[in-house]
Amino acid sequence: MAKKGKKIYEGKAKILYETNRHSFLIQEFKDDATAFDATKRGTIKEKGIYNNKISTTLFNLLEEKGVATHFVEQLNDREMLIKRVEIIPVEVTIRNIVAGGMAKLLGLEEGIHLKTPVLEFHYKNDALHDPLINEYHIYALKLATENELKQIVKKSFIINTILTKFFDKINLVLVDFKLEFGRFRGRVLLADEISPDTCRLWDKKTHEKLDKDRFRRDLGKIEEAYQEVLKRVTT
Ligand code: 5GP
Repeated sequence: MAKKGKKIYEGKAKILYETNRHSFLIQEFKDDATAFDATKRGTIKEKGIYNNKISTTLFNLLEEKGVATHFVEQLNDREMLIKRVEIIPVEVTIRNIVAGGMAKLLGLEEGIHLKTPVLEFHYKNDALHDPLINEYHIYALKLATENELKQIVKKSFIINTILTKFFDKINLVLVDFKLEFGRFRGRVLLADEISPDTCRLWDKKTHEKLDKDRFRRDLGKIEEAYQEVLKRVTT
């Protein structure tokens, strides 16, 4: 059992702690929620508990399907043990249906089904509002090597296929999601979390939003949405 050490990082939704083993960290999920570059702040009651369990289930599913992740084990309600990766400062967004940033960027209506999934890179930099970049920026700024980026792209599309199928079975549409990757002992691992904070999930029949858009857009019933996703993901 890993012993919790000192806090090394606190982000908007999670805290990282060292452990007595150098290569392992504890990731704690908070109830804090932010949107629009943290200009909107709030708390979603028990979100940390829902997201820890949802992420645990999805990381386990991906590992079973051969996708290497930073996840080691769930420790308790709000904490998981993870491998200490060096985060690659490139966020990957995959979109199956037009929503959010893509609707705004290209003046498209939300809900259009894309003929093929769209993969975007964003520079992970809060001060710059995670700007959209392409592979030329990534190589020019040495954010990742060609080999790393090739793996990241391949893994991201595989993850999209696995998660889309999984969510479809529980009557959820995976509209879009964001992934982060990290380096660990020469390998590229999926890191961060996969939860309604980082995915857009719509009910298949009603198209009701069951994700952080309920907080972003003041749609109400936020806790209920996270709880509903947890219920479906774990049954
Ligand atoms: P958009 O670019 O449309 O705002 O976001 C696309 C998808 O990626 C959404 O599912 C959104 O939740 C997720 N996403 C993108 N950037 C971030 C981020 O900085 N934090 C979180 N939690 N999710 C993000």
